[in-house]
Amino acid sequence: METETTTPPYQVLLYYRYVPIADPESYLESHRELCESLNLRGRIIVGREGINGTVSGTYEETEKYRDAMHGDPLTTEMEFKIDPAEDHVFPKLSIKIREEIVTLGLEPEEDIDPNEVTGERLSPREFYEKMQDENVVIIDGRNDYEAALGHFKGAICPPIRNFREFPEWVEEHADELKGKEILTYCTGGIRCEKLSGFLKKEGFEKVYQLEGGIVKYGKDPEVAGRDFEGLCYVFDQRVGVEVNRTETHKVISTCRYCGVEEPHYGNCQWPDCNEQIFVCPDCRDEQGLYCDEKCRAAAEAADQ
Ligand SMILES: [Zn+2]
Ligand SMILES: [Zn+2]
Repeated sequence: METETTTPPYQVLLYYRYVPIADPESYLESHRELCESLNLRGRIIVGREGINGTVSGTYEETEKYRDAMHGDPLTTEMEFKIDPAEDHVFPKLSIKIREEIVTLGLEPEEDIDPNEVTGERLSPREFYEKMQDENVVIIDGRNDYEAALGHFKGAICPPIRNFREFPEWVEEHADELKGKEILTYCTGGIRCEKLSGFLKKEGFEKVYQLEGGIVKYGKDPEVAGRDFEGLCYVFDQRVGVEVNRTETHKVISTCRYCGVEEPHYGNCQWPDCNEQIFVCPDCRDEQGLYCDEKCRAAAEAADQ
């Protein structure tokens, strides 16, 4: 019997590379032209230290984009994490220059260059095995609202709203981390390159990072997302994507009103708030999609 291989109509590509870009402005211009010619949508950040992006497009056009990137000496080695999709997952293309492609908020001379200092990279399997060690702490390298949707079992999820709050958090928790082996992970790996580098610079010796992040961990045929609980938060219209394809899969987020499992974020309907919250369908019907009485009252007052 012949097996049919079906190509998805669309693909989402996630990628980054820390590589010196001497002239970000001209790189940006030619890259914008490339993306527009291929009708790609998404979010791309270009800086002197490299490039970071998530884009969506048709199967053919995203494949052409990959070929073009691999044909460019700067990004010959670029690794793409690829998700099939039914449609675009972004409303438009945004491509911008930033001083840093990932910002820890350090002084320029103190910033981390992952090509110089970073944690040891672990494959999904190595990461899974390391997680089982007793003397290990696992640090979620993302923001609190990302970790609230899903994270690795037993991970510390720092209460931060922005990556630049990490240096202060590490300083405040140095005693708890002292003498431990530290594992870090993030969505696709880019933030951990700097976070694990920062931890090493702070004097922690055994620091490891999950290469390719949660996304690659979920695609690995062997670990299959094992012990990742909940969904992986993504910064596009999908919001959450599946990771764990084993029996350890579960929902960890719960309705803020009644406490039942609720795997999907909604945005508070009071426009000035717009906070991402978990409210189950029944409670949405009953009291609307609001953080609390305050947000509901404000929205109702504005309506009159
Ligand atoms: Zn509820
Ligand atoms: Zn609200």
